[in-house]
Amino acid sequence: MGPDLEEKLTSLLSPEEVVTGPEAAVLYGGDSTRVSGRPDAVVRPASAESIRLVMEYAARERVPVTPRGAGSGLSGGCVPAKGGVVVSTERLNRIIDIDTADLIAVVEPGVITASLHSASEALGFFYPPDPGSSAFCTLGGNVAENAGGLRGLKYGVTRDYVMALDIALPDGRTFTAGSRTRKNVTGYDMARLFTGSEGTLGFITKAALRLIPLPEARAGFLAAFDTLEAASGAVLMIIKSGITPSTLEIMDAVTLKAVASYLRANSPFDGRGDGGNGAPGALLLIEVDGSEADVVRQSGRLLDALKDSGAKELRQAKDTAEQEEIWAARRAALTALARISPSVILEDATVPRKEIPAMVRAIRNVAEKYCLLIGTFGHAGDGNLHPTIVTDLRVEENKNKVKAAVGEIFDAALSLGGTLSGEHGIGIMKSDYMERELGEAGVSAMRKVKDALDPQGIMNPGKIFKG
Ligand SMILES: Cc1cc2nc3c(=O)[nH]c(=O)nc-3n(C[C@H](O)[C@H](O)[C@H](O)COP(=O)(O)OP(=O)(O)OC[C@H]3O[C@@H](n4cnc5c(N)ncnc54)[C@H](O)[C@@H]3O)c2cc1C
Repeated sequence: MGPDLEEKLTSLLSPEEVVTGPEAAVLYGGDSTRVSGRPDAVVRPASAESIRLVMEYAARERVPVTPRGAGSGLSGGCVPAKGGVVVSTERLNRIIDIDTADLIAVVEPGVITASLHSASEALGFFYPPDPGSSAFCTLGGNVAENAGGLRGLKYGVTRDYVMALDIALPDGRTFTAGSRTRKNVTGYDMARLFTGSEGTLGFITKAALRLIPLPEARAGFLAAFDTLEAASGAVLMIIKSGITPSTLEIMDAVTLKAVASYLRANSPFDGRGDGGNGAPGALLLIEVDGSEADVVRQSGRLLDALKDSGAKELRQAKDTAEQEEIWAARRAALTALARISPSVILEDATVPRKEIPAMVRAIRNVAEKYCLLIGTFGHAGDGNLHPTIVTDLRVEENKNKVKAAVGEIFDAALSLGGTLSGEHGIGIMKSDYMERELGEAGVSAMRKVKDALDPQGIMNPGKIFKG
């Protein structure tokens, strides 16, 4: 840790707001990618004013600033790639207001996503964005990554719920982007610009998020298929049947077996990783919600579509507890895969929904070509798959194979009209690939936005753009 910087920050903030000690650099240096950097100082401000003071100081002294939520990111976004100060939002964890007249929650950026779920549901309201990490990620991190999650198909992503953001700019000035009104066309849509900007344009110090009424009823289903291709074909049949499930997730045999062995007796997937006749097998996990009558109607149509698309086993969760068990097992997918090898590389390529079967085939071809074990799961209803390479990157040969495989997965997604990242962001991990999707002109247009708001390049440097 840099003693001078730490000392200066201690004089600006209260002692509890500065994290000292040799372990700070380790605890605040990485995220879920297992990539890490070394901060020169770590602070955990207790107010928006403290953040403003840090930004003002950083601008004056040209010190890099890296915002940090829970560090659950999957693209290296909160890794201090160029040192400087890591600013953690862990103490900014208050739900300031839940306004049941305007249906808005006003929160500090360090509120854990699941806390807003339970606080709004207790009042009969609903905050739909539901990343698999909702038990530990923060709302600030969700806004900065424009996080998606398990309910994206019907309810959209974080962006669809952001109304206003209080921003501390890289020069220490502050303003509110957007407003708490349903309508607002005053100038550029700055709330949208900051949403998904990965902490590279400014610091989010407060957010006003839209709520909706809590659906009256829901029903959960598991459908087993002989192959991943068959399951991905069923996704299209479900959508063509005219219903919009709130959740439509897919898991392949590799992932199912990893989860079953991780959760053991608590796995709802036991024995469902085998498709019979030597086929690998796959599962769809589906939830429909709405009024009681609508859930009955949607469930009927869903079951018809699943039968028509060749599901070999259908099961409806008998109650809410069983539904929760299914979703808990789905959320365990990454942890379960990570447990079986020293390295996991989880990708996020997303394609138009009708191309999911083609994307699934492309991933399988890449796995075969490079002799790599790839577990595939994800938000199939959004066309958002998470092919997860399970390997050992300490072996040099594996590094080269993984690099080539990841490049080919991205190329396949782009050639199918897709995108590099559906929800995890670019961060450090995908900056090399940006031009493949956007071209030189596209990247340079984004760079101009960055340079206009952060001319000194101190705001989360080394992210999104190469170098
Ligand atoms: C098991 C698991 C499951 C996951 N499932 C999903 C999923 O379903 N959908 C999904 O979208 N993601 C998922 N993720 C990824 C991750 O949880 C999300 O990207 C989440 O939004 C990150 O939140 P965080 O608080 O951990 O942010 P961090 O990882 O700490 O930071 C993420 C980015 O946000 C920036 N940032 C954080 N706070 C602020 C702020 N206040 N102001 C400005 N910038 C800020 C950081 O600089 C960084 O660039 C998953 C991760 C794990 C480990």
